[in-house]
Amino acid sequence: MDYKKAVLRVIRCASRALRILALGAFGACVAAAAGATAATPSKQLRLYVLDCGTISAMDPALFGLKPNEVNREVNFVTPCYLIVHPKGTLIWDVGQVPDQDIPDDGTEVVQQGILKAKRRLGPQLAALGFEPKDITYLAMSHYHADHTANANLFAGSTWIVQQAEYDVMFSDAQVGIRMPDTYKALKTARRITLNNADHDVFGDGSVIIKTAPGHTPGHQMLFLKLKKFGPLLLAGDLYHLPEERTLDRVPTFDFDGAMTRATRKKVDQFLKQSGATLWIQHDPPTYAKLKKAPQYYD
Ligand SMILES: [Zn+2]
Repeated sequence: MDYKKAVLRVIRCASRALRILALGAFGACVAAAAGATAATPSKQLRLYVLDCGTISAMDPALFGLKPNEVNREVNFVTPCYLIVHPKGTLIWDVGQVPDQDIPDDGTEVVQQGILKAKRRLGPQLAALGFEPKDITYLAMSHYHADHTANANLFAGSTWIVQQAEYDVMFSDAQVGIRMPDTYKALKTARRITLNNADHDVFGDGSVIIKTAPGHTPGHQMLFLKLKKFGPLLLAGDLYHLPEERTLDRVPTFDFDGAMTRATRKKVDQFLKQSGATLWIQHDPPTYAKLKKAPQYYD
């Protein structure tokens, strides 16, 4: 997009904002236009880290840990991630509070007592020049409610899911930590269904969905080969806290703890062999150090 088009876009967007008396939206218009100029399309693989909320204090026992083994409040962050590749885009995990439930004025909304968010995913994508309908692929680490909130926005994308996960998501049985309303539109989405298998998303080995069952039956992770940053593994909820890793603990609510441990062993081998950096997605100290969108990793 050239400068003139960007300016026109700001003016159009701002006049819309004025009509609805939302003056604060002007800044967002400028950011959206500038972001659109910067980010579409990318010749090189990029990873953007987006803010999809926080989860407030939980009992460390849920993660197999005693209070004195953690020695702090167990709070989580919940990022979403946008991957931009020359051949398309992938959204990885889509938050814990649906956009339509987050108010315009930036106040924090709290759902189910602990799931908090104050920023919508849609506008964060718009600021980078994307709309949900532009996103080529959707993949979530797993079906738990803190990862699926905005899945319906991506019903026009191709959804990459493990068969075992799909079966739980649409099962008629009582299933915990599940919010089927947030992903019901995926039922009819184009789908790539994997049978406990890895998947090379763009066919060049740079973006790979990795099967990692245990936390849920079809839990998966995302491996990226970034040119400057190097290899990176987004671990989903294979771990929530670093202490699960150092003290060998498994959450009490995992689908199959023994399976989690077997997966973790394989992942350790993979990390060794690939040299990848591991990001524990929910870990606040990991997240605090990350570049956030509109900055990116490449
Ligand atoms: Zn989670």
